[in-house]
Amino acid sequence: MDFAFENSFHDSMEGFYAPAEAAKPSAPKLLLFNHALAERLGIEVADATDDQLARIFSGEEAPEGANPLALAYAGHQFGHFSPQLGDGRALLLGEIVAPDGARFDVQLKGSGPTAFSRNGDGKAAIGPVLREFLVSEAMAAMGVPTTRALAAVATGDRVHRERAHPGAVLTRVASSHIRVGTFQFFAAHFGADHVTQLSDYSIRRHFPDLAEAANPYLALLDRVTGLQCELVSHWLGVGFIHGVMNTDNVAISGETIDYGPCAFMDRFAVNTVFSSIDANGRYAYGRQPQIMHWNMARFAEALLPAIHRVSPEDVEAAKAIVDAIPGRFRASWHAKARKKLGLNGEGADDGELIDSLFDELETHSVDFTSFFRALAMLLRGDGAMLEGLLPSADAMAPWIAAWWRRIEQDAGNPLEIADAMDAVNPLYIPRNHLVEETLDAAEAGDLAPWLQLLGVVRNPYEVRPGLERFELPAPADAGPYKTFC
Ligand code: AMP
Ligand code: MG
Ligand code: MG
Repeated sequence: MDFAFENSFHDSMEGFYAPAEAAKPSAPKLLLFNHALAERLGIEVADATDDQLARIFSGEEAPEGANPLALAYAGHQFGHFSPQLGDGRALLLGEIVAPDGARFDVQLKGSGPTAFSRNGDGKAAIGPVLREFLVSEAMAAMGVPTTRALAAVATGDRVHRERAHPGAVLTRVASSHIRVGTFQFFAAHFGADHVTQLSDYSIRRHFPDLAEAANPYLALLDRVTGLQCELVSHWLGVGFIHGVMNTDNVAISGETIDYGPCAFMDRFAVNTVFSSIDANGRYAYGRQPQIMHWNMARFAEALLPAIHRVSPEDVEAAKAIVDAIPGRFRASWHAKARKKLGLNGEGADDGELIDSLFDELETHSVDFTSFFRALAMLLRGDGAMLEGLLPSADAMAPWIAAWWRRIEQDAGNPLEIADAMDAVNPLYIPRNHLVEETLDAAEAGDLAPWLQLLGVVRNPYEVRPGLERFELPAPADAGPYKTFC
């Protein structure tokens, strides 16, 4: 097994983390290793046995060159500032530079307590570990920026939540784990020097082109804001509800991070919330753009000491960047929605067509994922799928007619448009009821259903016979779905 760690955060950012050690698992057993991702990272594991992989990716054995540490961060949780959070159940093993030069964090999640665990046990149960593995792989397959899952290992220990569960460790790979909350921690406790140092590191690592900007910290705000607009547009496009968009769960890389209570919407309703702790719907599907805006305002505040130091006038420019977010998000979302709807170019009424779609889908309680595939079938001259999704033959008829006229304006070949739509609209997503079913089986010792579902969502666009049940939303009588952190 060949790991070449290069730990830039450990080496150049002393004072921004606490060294940490993984707890020893009693009987580590490999559940799954992501060979495709290992290859992308340039990690050589061909000669490794499952037992070796289990020891390394449970934290029993530190690979050579690892400098395990826990990152310090703060964060606004449900709108309230928590001055000290930090990696309470995660451990950064080190960084890997892939063959193409891209740098990644390799982190264990659930490997025991750290200096930041407060009253937590630092552990993870098998359900949430396999859930994150599955959903993050699905997101990656759908082209949504995300952290990845390299390995899942059962620890052989019990983890107590409401009851005892088998414990597990997830190995998470991210282009970094620097969050908005990381900036908030150093802004709140230390001030301009630390914020500047963290910004300089972030720019070197993620956005080296910004180093030359007149005010690199203002440019950093601008770049991260743009990436968050893109990210939330992706989420809306696949019906994803993150569930806990606290500022400590917002990565500056623009990757989706922290798959706790997240879930995908079936029948469309803009206020959909799945998280059991989100009683007020702060993080509902349709509120995600506003919350992203709010989170970026908190990022701007944390960056202000560094921005101001370069140029006091740029404080106004920072405010302008934050104020421009709704327009920027809208442009980004509309571009995504046009692709989903098969629209080329920009029609004068596209905004209205896109905005009214949500109302239509909600009125008729349409399955969000299937709808876009059904539109493509309609372009192929087959209306059966759409008919099956709608409560009556004339439901949505005016909207469909307006969309059809807009398609005709482009004067493209309908079959080609339909294929282009299918290439961006997933057919198979991690449907909530299927995810739960497979996690229950895994917890009881049968991994096969989970592995099958993983295989299905890793290839989300291409129709495969025999997988019809994976296309369908939960049965109408399934009752409300609840997720937990
Ligand atoms: P999250 O809601 O997953 O974003 O976590 C919020 C904070 O709680 C982070 O600082 C986590 O590290 C910490 N945390 C969550 N679960 C645990 C746990 N079981 N043990 C220790 N810390 C935890
Ligand atoms: Mg978190
Ligand atoms: Mg979490």
